[in-house]
This record gives sequence, structure tokens and C-alpha cells, in this order.
Amino acid sequence: MNMEDYRGVWVFIEEKDGIVAPVSLELLGAGKWLAEKRKTELAGVLIGENVQELAQTVVEYGADKVYVYDDPIYRFYRTESYMKAMLACVEKYKPEILLYGATSTGKDLASAVATDLPTGLTADTTQLDVEEDTGLLLASRPAFGGNIMATILCKKYRPQMATVRPKVMKALSRNNGATGEFIHESIPIKEEDIRTKVLEIVQTTTQRIRIDEADIIVAGGKGLGGPLGFQVIHQLANTLGAVVGASRDVVEAGWIGHHHQVGQTGATVTPKIYFAIGISGAIQHIVGMQNSGLIIAINKDPAAAIFQAAHYGIVGDALTIVPMITEAFKIALG
Ligand code: FAD
Repeated sequence: MNMEDYRGVWVFIEEKDGIVAPVSLELLGAGKWLAEKRKTELAGVLIGENVQELAQTVVEYGADKVYVYDDPIYRFYRTESYMKAMLACVEKYKPEILLYGATSTGKDLASAVATDLPTGLTADTTQLDVEEDTGLLLASRPAFGGNIMATILCKKYRPQMATVRPKVMKALSRNNGATGEFIHESIPIKEEDIRTKVLEIVQTTTQRIRIDEADIIVAGGKGLGGPLGFQVIHQLANTLGAVVGASRDVVEAGWIGHHHQVGQTGATVTPKIYFAIGISGAIQHIVGMQNSGLIIAINKDPAAAIFQAAHYGIVGDALTIVPMITEAFKIALG
């Protein structure tokens, strides 16, 4: 592998129903900064059906160029078709760095691409930088239960690939009317070549929650005693227009679904306000919410570890306190 042949920072642009995923815009912001440090260009890879208009959006969020694979075959995300397009693009244009959002689509595609390319993949990155003297990508992520940050380098192979958690990087403000280069690509791929068929898209009956995009999260833990006690969390969340979060123990007890879990094996969240109620503050929970703007903890144990991470703490019985503050918010919000 001739490493000198690999130039440029790329971002896989995730899109659904004609909308670019927020994480892709965040990665364009981070990618621009990396590209400037490497004195190279930033490109997006956009795969989908009727996505030309979105290519302009990608440029307006910082890309110098966009590789576009626009074909009905890419209407729905499928590992095989997207992987083949990405592999062809990488082989033809040879990026130095390739970033994906750590969403279910991004993780699936990145790991499929990594199995075919002779290179590695750093998963669930929360920090990106470039090493001064070598120019290598420094991809950092929490390790050993969040007790240390591990910085992972890919020294001998290209591209250097990473998935990056949503809501960690900052998108640039949109530069309306920005100009960039669109490179239309296609590969010889037919429907018959793809083993997966999408027969029907069934909307889930429960409301889809995007906890990682919430501005306010009201999270509850085992301290609420049971599913009945946990109702006070829903009531406060409804009053504030917030999303409900939960510790792993609550999810494992079946009080609420896994999509609500915050922490190492759940979502990483950075809302403006995070309520941690009846949650002890185990490190595996803390790593998922410690970067929230304002953390308010309610726990009956004054020595609970959650108070170390909180900006404000209330010591007492959540089953008494939460209904009281819910009523107060109801009155204040009209
Ligand atoms: P507990 O630890 O039981 O804490 C309950 C708290 O409620 C206590 O602090 C108690 O003082 C308080 N309390 C009790 N009664 C009341 C009351 N009436 N009013 C107010 N407070 C009260 N955990 C996660 O959350 N997310 C993860 O992603 C995650 N991933 C993990 C991954 C691994 C590999 C491992 C080993 C563990 C992981 N855990 C995770 C589990 C984690 O270690 C803790 O076990 C879990 O977070 C504890 O949940 P909890 O705080 O709800 O319960």
C-alpha cells in the first residue's frame, strides 16, 4: 500500500427521506477542521435515490466536493449495495481519513467496509485530532468502562476509519449558496446481485424516540422502586416536553425499552438539561451523560456518586419530590 496516494478527509453522508442526518453535518464540521490541519480537502460520500439536492446541502455545511451515487437501487439502506458503492469510491479516489456517524446505519456500513479493506476501524469515537509531527488521525474513545480515554492510531494502512458518536462534534453554520464540486459515480450493480430485499417498511407503533437529539432528558433509575414509581418520570418529562431516559438496571428490569438507556451500552447524550432521578451514578451511566449542559440529580443518599457529576442536587425521596416539582413546572409553564 502506497500511503502517499491517500489524500483527503471524507464523511459518509447518512440520509433518510431527503434529510441529512444531524451526525453527518456534525462530522462535516469536525472533518473540515481535520482537513485544514492536514492541508487537504473535505469530501462527502452521498449514496441514495434522488439525492442531488442534498449534495448542495453537504457543500453548504463545509464539503469541498461530494461523491454522489444516485440510483433507485440505493433507495433503502442495505449493507451490500452501500458497501459496494463505498468500496468502489475508496478504491478509486483513496481518502486518507473516512468518518461515519456511530448510528445503526453508520456502524453497519463502516464495519462492512472495514471487513473488505485492509485497514482498521475505531468505533464510537468521541474525540478526533491529528498528530502534529506524523499527521496521523488520533481517534479517542472511552475504554475500560469510561475510566480511561484510549487514543487509537492506524499507522500502516489507509484509509484511517472511525465511527463518531452523535452530538459530540459541532456542525458549522450553514453557508447558503456555497459552491463545491459534484462527482457523479456509478457502479455496475443490479437488484439481482443484492441478497437483501426490502419488502415493506413498517412504522413502529410506539413513538420513535431520539434520545441523543433531546434538549431535555428526565432519566430515572432503580431508586424509583418499580414501574409504578417510574411513572413520576414520565409525568415530569411530559410536563417539560422532555424525553425519558433510564439507567441500564431499569431497562433490564423491563420498566422501559432499551432505546431509553443512557450510558456505556446505551446512548451518549448531551441535552441542555439532564435530570438523574433515583440513579446511583455508576461510571457506566456517567460516561453517557456527563457532557450535558445542566445536570440535576435527585437521590435519597447524600453520598451517591451522581452528585459528583451534578451541577445541582436534591437529597430526598424522589417519589415525593418529583410530583411536587412536576406540579410547580405545570403552574409555571401554564
Ligand atoms: P442503583 O445502582 O440500584 O441505584 C439506585 C439509586 O437510587 C441509589 O443511589 C439509591 O440511593 C437511590 N434511591 C433509592 N430509593 C430512592 C428514592 N426513593 N428516592 C431517591 N433516590 C432513591 N448502567 C447504565 O445506566 N447505563 C449503561 O449503559 C450501563 N452499561 C454497563 C456496562 C457494563 C459492562 C456494566 C458492567 C454495567 C453497566 N451499567 C450501565 C450498569 C451500572 O454499572 C449500574 O449497575 C447501573 O447504572 C445502576 O442503575 P441505577 O443507578 O438505576 O440503580
